[in-house]
Amino acid sequence: MELFDAHTHTVGKSTQIPFYVLSGFDLESSRNAVAYVRGRREGYASVGFHPLFLPSVAVPRDEVLSQLTALMKSPEVKAVGEIGLDYRRDSGDREKQIDWFRLQLRLAIRLKKPVILHIVKAFGDAQRILEEEGAFEQKNSVLLHSFSGSVEMAVHLVNRGAKISLGPTLMDPKNQKIRTVVTGLSPEHMLIETDAEFESPKGIESGEDSLTILESIVQRIAKLKGLPLDELRHQIFENTKQFYRIGTEE
Ligand SMILES: [Zn+2]
Repeated sequence: MELFDAHTHTVGKSTQIPFYVLSGFDLESSRNAVAYVRGRREGYASVGFHPLFLPSVAVPRDEVLSQLTALMKSPEVKAVGEIGLDYRRDSGDREKQIDWFRLQLRLAIRLKKPVILHIVKAFGDAQRILEEEGAFEQKNSVLLHSFSGSVEMAVHLVNRGAKISLGPTLMDPKNQKIRTVVTGLSPEHMLIETDAEFESPKGIESGEDSLTILESIVQRIAKLKGLPLDELRHQIFENTKQFYRIGTEE
């Protein structure tokens, strides 16, 4: 089955699983992701600090960064993430978020790894920092996971070279905004994800396996865009392999 979960935090126990990128959100989960996918044909990892799981100031920053850098160099690691900015209420120190966002972005650029971004209510700052750090200079280097911005922002970002990952929010009957984004985007810029189990998707049965979730997302996109299902599934699968440089580098 040509399905690739571009971003997840857990792999189900189902016997049939899609290809996937298992994403860390702090040092421990990043280490676990790398260990889990080792030797698995369909699994890859990404490592990084999520803006809501930043390291405590009690731990020396250089030490954390050197451990993270070592992880980033593992052959299983296809991207840095999820990293980003989250400006919802009570989401913590924004200066600290920006600091870690820049640090991890620089590491990713230096190691030529794409980034998986978590951006919530912070598109202005995120966009400015991505430009300042030169994140778009390399092709296939920026993925907006579970995109929550406007269609204008999505179009602007893909014109700069970013890809947009669509997740279970697309199945939420109340979320008209994300459907407008899909309508306004060309399929060559789309990836799909479950973000399991961070998102508690409305419109998806709990306990649904990832293949089923990914397939319903593709079906929804096909319907919104009026595209043949098989063609779209294939396109998104190829987009994902290309983005993570899978099968192109070896
Ligand atoms: Zn996530």
